[in-house]
Amino acid sequence: MPFTIAIDGPAASGKGTIARALAARFGLPHLDTGLLYRAVGALGGDPVAAARGLTAADLARPDLRSAEAGQAASRVAAIPEVRAALVDFQRRFALQDPGAVLDGRDIGTVICPDAAVKLYVVADDATRAARRAAELGADPAEMLAQLRERDARDSARATAPLRAAPDAVVLDTTAMSIEQAVAAAVAEVTRRRDG
Ligand code: C5P
Repeated sequence: MPFTIAIDGPAASGKGTIARALAARFGLPHLDTGLLYRAVGALGGDPVAAARGLTAADLARPDLRSAEAGQAASRVAAIPEVRAALVDFQRRFALQDPGAVLDGRDIGTVICPDAAVKLYVVADDATRAARRAAELGADPAEMLAQLRERDARDSARATAPLRAAPDAVVLDTTAMSIEQAVAAAVAEVTRRRDG
């Protein structure tokens, strides 16, 4: 069985940073699955056709990190046919040898329910907004409103809503530095790998 690490959580909780650090630490490839939905949203036109025809070049667009791209992503991510079109690629990535790290919203629940490690990364709303505002050079109040809107949409959708898997370990990064959050995640992965 490949060693798959599934990391889920709401926007700006720190899951991307943790996923990248774990991938480097354990020598595994990393997939930021939010980029798939961001690319579909940014392509415009029919989102189902965009998801079915997604290419590596689409994922390399320079405009995918913006707040607008995040909002567009969360709208197309609620469409079941869009999600269905992206499942195989994510599962293949997750199940490669010797393993992989994926971060998103439904990795531990839908994409990889048998993942060796599942982390659900959270942080309080104001902390997440402040982090995202600093990252994008944006207004924290505006970021807070956007994150809440996105989380509400991601949590309320019928297909693959944002939710912790029952067997996920919850990691609250509110009061943690990046180093502390990464250390906690590394400790959990090591425990699973060696246990
Ligand atoms: O993680 P990121 O902020 O880049 O995700 C953008 C949007 O893509 C999320 O708000 C969510 O709607 C969607 N998404 C998803 N499932 C994933 C990853 C992202 O629905 N596995």
